[in-house]
Amino acid sequence: MGMVLNDVHSRLNPTEVSSVVTPASEEEVRAIVAGARIAGARISVSGGRHCMGGQQFGAGTVHVDGRRLREVRAFDPDRGLMEIGAGATWPAIIEATHEAQPGDGKRWGIRQKQTGADDLTLGGAISANAHGRGLLMGPLVDDIEDLTIVTPSGVIVRASRTERPELFSLAVGGYGLFGIVVRATLRLGPRRKLRRRVEVVDIDEAMGAVCRRIDDGCLYGDFQYAIDPGDDTFLRRGVFTCYEPVPAATPLGDPDADLTREDWLRLLSLAHTDKAGAFRAYAQHYLDTRGHVYWSDTMQRSTYIPSYSEFLAESIGREGPESLMITELFVPPAALLDFMKRARAVLRESAVEDIYGTIRAIRPDATTYLPWACGDRACVIFNLRTPHSPEGIDRTRRAARGLIDSALDGGGTFFLAYHRWATREQLLRGHPRLPEFLAAKRRHDPGDLFISEWLRGVRSTLEPLTS
Ligand SMILES: Cc1cc2nc3c(=O)[nH]c(=O)nc-3n(C[C@H](O)[C@H](O)[C@H](O)COP(=O)(O)OP(=O)(O)OC[C@H]3O[C@@H](n4cnc5c(N)ncnc54)[C@H](O)[C@@H]3O)c2cc1C
Repeated sequence: MGMVLNDVHSRLNPTEVSSVVTPASEEEVRAIVAGARIAGARISVSGGRHCMGGQQFGAGTVHVDGRRLREVRAFDPDRGLMEIGAGATWPAIIEATHEAQPGDGKRWGIRQKQTGADDLTLGGAISANAHGRGLLMGPLVDDIEDLTIVTPSGVIVRASRTERPELFSLAVGGYGLFGIVVRATLRLGPRRKLRRRVEVVDIDEAMGAVCRRIDDGCLYGDFQYAIDPGDDTFLRRGVFTCYEPVPAATPLGDPDADLTREDWLRLLSLAHTDKAGAFRAYAQHYLDTRGHVYWSDTMQRSTYIPSYSEFLAESIGREGPESLMITELFVPPAALLDFMKRARAVLRESAVEDIYGTIRAIRPDATTYLPWACGDRACVIFNLRTPHSPEGIDRTRRAARGLIDSALDGGGTFFLAYHRWATREQLLRGHPRLPEFLAAKRRHDPGDLFISEWLRGVRSTLEPLTS
């Protein structure tokens, strides 16, 4: 008897797997892979289950839930390296870095993690080559020293930039298709105190503001834009929040001044009922906390609302399942203003609500096989309200495709970690190395031991006659 699994955020990927296994050691993972090979079974692997295009599930597979692989294996206080199980979530990783440095002298901390949720695993972040909101950082691959992987042949190997570099470049950003990452060595950065700086600016001033803040030494930042499509400020005005290092003796801000879970729920509710009011309230909160001081690692933690449909039913009386589908586009900075203009038109025409969204900066990735940051990029994120009716899903699909075209026309691309709605032409324009990636998959895993609904979907879009 199989078991139906689904992703936690969109809940649009129910997939029946044949069994779920939860290994707690690398030897158990190796035995599962060896057993599946002998039995002619296939494997899918998940961490926190936040991808939204079936990347972590495969129908009929033995499903490996990697979350018990979370042991700290080594910590190098001189170089700031921590080797830790790939199933560790970010709160556990942050805690492990604190525990490894007892007393007040916690010199090292994580450099970046995803925003919007915390219960994502290191393995999931590596496999999507995720990013945070550093102003001068590349994607997560820059923070990964090496990986330990159970390969499709059932052996445990190391991969890094110098040892099996091709496997390293495929596994980071490879969506679990080249083996199970059992542990990784994470490069930490100096853990420091940061002061929040906030200004409300228009998008055409934002690039100048980013450069100024980088010159001032700010390390993190993002631009949260206005979401009311009926207003001139739509996707134009935004709260630009940055974080600059301050001396270690600077007192931390009052934690009570930060948004509580209830405050976030109120803001989320307003984003559905009074979008202009939601932006005003968000902006006011950030302006009120200007000058507050945070630790660089814990500052990156987020509040997550797991049961969005239930929340909407209670707060605004909305019935029927729905969720927020994320779509993320990466555009060259020079193409940002034109992209935002087209995005305004796409969202207005489709009448899909964008519940919140940010713009961030990312530096290029020259390491992974399937890079999404091929130069300096502005990352523009949309959280699209998606009722789970055929019409609701179709509306969001059309809007997502319109946003992707707008990014592609400006020389940009899109993130593969979310839905599977990109057309053949969009996949090939946005990710021209995808055919080579699929060929590498055939070389490294000719029997498709590791499979996912995402891979099946990409193949049937790109190789309809052979898949
Ligand atoms: C609310 C929300 C906010 C987000 N914010 C950001 C953001 O700010 N920046 C960003 O870059 N992304 C963001 N994402 C996307 C997120 O980074 C990816 O979806 C990430 O892969 C999720 O990690 P996970 O642990 O949930 O992995 P899962 O969803 O479980 O798996 C994701 C992929 O990793 C593979 N995988 C998982 N564990 C392993 C392993 N041990 N070995 C091999 N493969 C493995 C799976 O097979 C799958 O292909 C966000 C997603 C959501 C839902």
